[in-house]
Amino acid sequence: MKPLIVANWKCNPITQKEAEQLFNSVAKESQKIKNVETVICPPFVFLLGLKLGLKPGFNRISRGAQDCFWEEKGAFTGEVSAQMLKDIGCKYVIAGHSERRKYFSETNETVNKKLKAVLDAGLNPIFCVGETKEERETGKIETVIKNQITEGLKDISSAKFDELVVAYEPVWAIGTGNPCSVEEAQKMRLFILKVISEIYSRNISGETRILYGGSANSLNSEGYIKEAGFSGLLVGGASLNAEEFVKIIKSAI
Ligand code: PEP
Repeated sequence: MKPLIVANWKCNPITQKEAEQLFNSVAKESQKIKNVETVICPPFVFLLGLKLGLKPGFNRISRGAQDCFWEEKGAFTGEVSAQMLKDIGCKYVIAGHSERRKYFSETNETVNKKLKAVLDAGLNPIFCVGETKEERETGKIETVIKNQITEGLKDISSAKFDELVVAYEPVWAIGTGNPCSVEEAQKMRLFILKVISEIYSRNISGETRILYGGSANSLNSEGYIKEAGFSGLLVGGASLNAEEFVKIIKSAI
């Protein structure tokens, strides 16, 4: 499978024009890179415009959403469903990002509902797990990650597992400029695989795509993929600079 490089634009940029410029700058370069799957997850409002901004040949970027609601439709003011995202051509949906857990009170239980909704809609979830600094310092890393995975994947059939992508994102590394070392990230990748193999089977865990996220940039990206064995990266801040993001994509080849 091709390495997967995912841009999480978070709540950026402010205007449609800037979003299109950034998207098209990345698209222009990334269309030359055949062996990497690139995904851009902009704020919801830009998803359709970015599709319109696509020119012929600029079709190697998949679009993803940063979140979704678990119900398909109904009286849920402000929400966007996985079915709606599917309808406008999204391929991926991030679920359980630590900023959603922190600022919007998402729990393992709500993340589980979202993962099921995304899979039921035929989309690929990018399921984020990771420990806080305090959890790391108090020796709770494995318990926290194991709970996030076990509760997040509750009642999700192994038949759906091909579509699932897991992202290991230590919370203390996100947006801090303090990335997790390649050695430590690799240790956590192996631990995640072990937990998945306990829930499902060794076969399935071997096929699971696991991304690293947390202050990834063009200088450290290669190490996570080529040394630590990650299937790709989830990139926040560095994905807002087209030149830097394209370098990250190239480092995955
Ligand atoms: C993220 O938000 O998923 C992320 C990894 O952010 P950053 O790359 O800025 O640490």
